[in-house]
Amino acid sequence: MSAPRVGVLGLQGDVREHLAALTGVGADAVRVRRGIELDHVDALVIPGGESTTIGKLLVTFDLLEPLQKRVRDGMPVFGSCAGMILLADRVLDGTADQVGVGGLDITVRRNAFGRQVESFEGDVGFAGLDEPVHAVFIRAPWVEDFGPDVQPLARVGDGQAAGRIVAVRQGTLLATSFHPELTGDLRVHQLFVSMVKEQLR
Ligand code: GLN
Repeated sequence: MSAPRVGVLGLQGDVREHLAALTGVGADAVRVRRGIELDHVDALVIPGGESTTIGKLLVTFDLLEPLQKRVRDGMPVFGSCAGMILLADRVLDGTADQVGVGGLDITVRRNAFGRQVESFEGDVGFAGLDEPVHAVFIRAPWVEDFGPDVQPLARVGDGQAAGRIVAVRQGTLLATSFHPELTGDLRVHQLFVSMVKEQLR
């Protein structure tokens, strides 16, 4: 099978790091900023950044409805941090005008780890991976609640946030509170690309 074409939503956020990680696991990685580009990808990564800004830009670039349609039609999407917030059906501590893509039956809390904690790192066990993932959290959300079709994949191991869910999967949708694109550990991208291949089979 030829390499799946995986887009990275390139409106704002850490786009280049995702393109590099996807290329590193054998995908044909392309930046997506226009509807025509979205039409030509098999799957999409929504990067970290600022969910309110990315949401507004999705509207400005006429991408919100086409993206919602692709999600409904089963396109695999991986959202990291702001991307998780954008995929969530319900957002706590969002702004009044916050726009989302939705599709993932979760309730996320934005900036959940506390305002004073801009970022921290820690190892989290991740379902299906032998070794823990070193997770970088930057003003990160966590998952407060989830529906019956959602599988929690990772929880914070210790500290004040111990037990909080920080990675989930629901069918073709994958989301992490943390940033696997920043650590050089490609296993989460590998997992996503294998989900894409599965879907294309
Ligand atoms: N706090 C940001 C938001 O609400 C997410 C931070 C991130 O993506 N690193 O979108």
